[in-house]
Amino acid sequence: MGPLVRLSFESDRPRKAGLDEAGALRAALAAAGRDLLNLSARAGSGAAECLQFQLALLDDETHVEPAFARIADGLSADAAWRRIMDDLIHIYGADPSEYVRARRLDVADLRDRVLTALHGERRAEGPPAGAIVVAEDLPPSRFLELDWSDGGGIVLSRGSTMSHTAILARSSGVPMIVQVGDIPNASQAILDADAGSLELDPSEETLRAFVRTSAARAMRAPPAVRADLGAPATYRGERVQLLLNIEGPESLSHPASRFADGVGLMRTEFLFLGRNETPNEEAQLEVYRAVLRWAGDRPVTIRTVDAGGDKTIGGLSDEGEANPFLGMRGLRLSLRRPDFFAVQLRALARAAVNDRLKVMFPMVTVPSEFEAAKAMFYRIVETLRAEGREARVPELGMMVEVPAAALTIADFDAAFFSIGANDLTQFVMACDRANGTVSHLYDPMNPAVVELVRRVADHGRARGAPVSLCGDLAGDPAHTQSLLKYGLRELSMSPNSLPAVKSAILAIGEAVLV
Ligand code: PEP
Ligand code: MG
Repeated sequence: MGPLVRLSFESDRPRKAGLDEAGALRAALAAAGRDLLNLSARAGSGAAECLQFQLALLDDETHVEPAFARIADGLSADAAWRRIMDDLIHIYGADPSEYVRARRLDVADLRDRVLTALHGERRAEGPPAGAIVVAEDLPPSRFLELDWSDGGGIVLSRGSTMSHTAILARSSGVPMIVQVGDIPNASQAILDADAGSLELDPSEETLRAFVRTSAARAMRAPPAVRADLGAPATYRGERVQLLLNIEGPESLSHPASRFADGVGLMRTEFLFLGRNETPNEEAQLEVYRAVLRWAGDRPVTIRTVDAGGDKTIGGLSDEGEANPFLGMRGLRLSLRRPDFFAVQLRALARAAVNDRLKVMFPMVTVPSEFEAAKAMFYRIVETLRAEGREARVPELGMMVEVPAAALTIADFDAAFFSIGANDLTQFVMACDRANGTVSHLYDPMNPAVVELVRRVADHGRARGAPVSLCGDLAGDPAHTQSLLKYGLRELSMSPNSLPAVKSAILAIGEAVLV
């Protein structure tokens, strides 16, 4: 229950021009400038640099005046500003220097900030705590910018339960419903994500009833968590490893984490998304070491950054791709940006002095990419040692989430494999995972997907290379038995899912004994 706050990240919706378009643009520029000054007062040095760059652009007459000239020619304020900024983005994008090219994202951000102000809306920073956020869609970076510490919820006109925002919402316990269509304005609402319902401006009586039922729910005993969850899970006499999918060390505070056999997937892109500063080598090393400290003698698999798709990282990912999930993302992007990738590999190579660490690469499509990433890792370890630092090449594995990789799995010389059933399903079923309108076809248990899962599991067994599954399917207890039957013995899931999956495996064991 909370205030309903509408957020808009769409800067290209039509806007009705007024009588004084030049005045409107001037006001929007001033509002954007104020926001930037406020942000820069709060931001760390990395972000402050980007904000200063944007402020300098706003102050630069050569950039701003042409927009007023266009308005004088008859364009609306938003059309004029967009045209000038798009030209500038194009100029930055064509620059031979990587550094200057990367700045085009800051220009795009400034374009959108001013357009948002022209629409009379505010950016995502700061809806009141506990608000129910309404939007067309919500990118993961925006989810991370919002403060969920006091509760709140998400209602999306579009969206999908398989997007990365949904994964984050699930793991943070933020209620979210998607594909709701147009949502009328209201000041307050009750969101029940279990039932998939949203009640706008509820009556006093409904509000009172809601408070009573939620108090009763809170008093009810928590769902039965088996006392023996600490016991190791086995299937047909073989040990089953139940591992965690985490975004960072904070995910490990979940009470179910203590029942886990280690970390099966750390999605490191979340160290970069929604942050004011890009973590440098030392900051990354500290995070990786914190996870390893938590794990003790349990294994930890860290995945290198999987940016792109629906996870755009300013200064790194491409903007405006027609098919971002099929575009420059994952390992493809990391290999294209060795300057950025090297920083992460250096931190990982130093953390790998702890031999519980394993590292894997996302979105591997062909063996040459995997070989290139491995070769870079080896070179980096040599450089670090030459610098007198301790470093080691850990076991290097790969995500299997592209059908081509699953079909040619025997061609990859990897120490281990991890099946990314989320992406594998979207590619095999030709269903954009972020588009809920095709969710009826998005089925990770479709025989076509299962065939590839089995193929990879069989290959791993035959070659003696461990195979885990780390897509959301691993956290669905309804399918646990099937996954075990396919030969999988490592399942990696969000901490929320672990008790139910572990209970399901323990129950299978008992059923066999009976
Ligand atoms: C997957 O694709 O199944 C996966 C685990 O990776 P992500 O959800 O981060 O794309
Ligand atoms: Mg994936």
